[in-house]
Amino acid sequence: MSFSQIAREIAESPTLMLNEQARLLRVKGEPVIHLGAGEPKNRAPIAAILSAAAKLREGDIKYTPTEGIPSLRKSIIRYTEENYNKLVSPENIIVSNGAKQALWNLLYSIVNPQDEVIILAPYWVSYPEMIKMMYGVPVVVTPEDGTFHPRMEDVEQVVGSSTSAIIVNSPNNPSGVMYSPEFVAELVEFCEKKGIWYISDDIYHKLIFDGRSWPSPYEYTGKDLEDSRVVTVNGVSKLYGMTGFRVGWTVAPRRLVEIMINVQAQTTSTASLVLQAAANGALTGVQSVIEALRQMLQNNRDIMMQELKSFNGITCTLPEGTFYCLPDFRAYSNDSIELSRQLLEKAMVVTVPGKEFGMEGHLRLSICGSIKDIKQGIERIKWVIDPQSPNELFIGEKKLVRDWL
Ligand code: PMP
Repeated sequence: MSFSQIAREIAESPTLMLNEQARLLRVKGEPVIHLGAGEPKNRAPIAAILSAAAKLREGDIKYTPTEGIPSLRKSIIRYTEENYNKLVSPENIIVSNGAKQALWNLLYSIVNPQDEVIILAPYWVSYPEMIKMMYGVPVVVTPEDGTFHPRMEDVEQVVGSSTSAIIVNSPNNPSGVMYSPEFVAELVEFCEKKGIWYISDDIYHKLIFDGRSWPSPYEYTGKDLEDSRVVTVNGVSKLYGMTGFRVGWTVAPRRLVEIMINVQAQTTSTASLVLQAAANGALTGVQSVIEALRQMLQNNRDIMMQELKSFNGITCTLPEGTFYCLPDFRAYSNDSIELSRQLLEKAMVVTVPGKEFGMEGHLRLSICGSIKDIKQGIERIKWVIDPQSPNELFIGEKKLVRDWL
């Protein structure tokens, strides 16, 4: 059998694979704690459900314009004005099946074979794989040890004549770190000057902590949108806890949106009408759902930091937003894939190996579960790797005795 070489080389999505493993273990009745999840447990906002249900009741569910239904694009215009302080036109917007497809269509529309795309470690697992699918070359910029914050001089050093884009995700999956306004300003200015696409993946941009404000990249460009290299990607998955609805969007210069519309038209056509209606419901409904989620996450973040403090040798950069933290486990292991495997096998805790995000020796832990999950999850991790922790662990009625340290 012959297969496409590029497709064969694409890595399995570790996060989706872990979700599936956790689900299968739960089905078997195993007491799994899922600290790998990238989605909160909330129900979808009622406004989203009612809006989708109304569409279904009408029963007239057909193709939509490739770029998305006008009402949703209108809501995205309002969203962009309110949250990015930027006025855009309907022609600057394309709706896709999640931010993931938005990013794929966007990269397909701007990356030529052998073009380099800069990604900032730690990075979201799909960036390098998507770039490879375009026959492009991912170029990773790694920050100084422990900071998770890129430095402008390190970015400048890797930029060359083949650089076509840089992807910026702040607050960042997996570290939770937010890039400083100074860095964003300098990078936007640099990209505009050099003609490099500045892709802002803003999927977590309102889930930020401690009263911080999020710097919109548009604030730092003097250029009109049609001449600017700044492109923003967003969606309803994270802010509204609507991961399964699969609606995301891109805001870009018209010429780029036109190309993306052709790419989408020839591949998946449109996002589903029912789900676009749900996304529109979420954007036009009560916005307190985001604040409730944000507060829950901040509280969970504090509890996670407290639990990690009591862990010998573990350090963790304070997450300033998102669903995650990325503690450094190098005091115990330099092999995060093996460590993650051991934690699942011995103590039924799901974590994501840092290696997948370009940060070996770390594990990504999620804070979007319950407080109980966080406390028990850390207790179980300690039991597996820390000889100072008690030798016995109770999972429900079951007593486990450690015999490997
Ligand atoms: N970007 C980042 C940084 C993400 O973490 C995710 C989801 N894990 C996405 C994009 C994709 O989001 P969506 O569900 O809208 O496809």
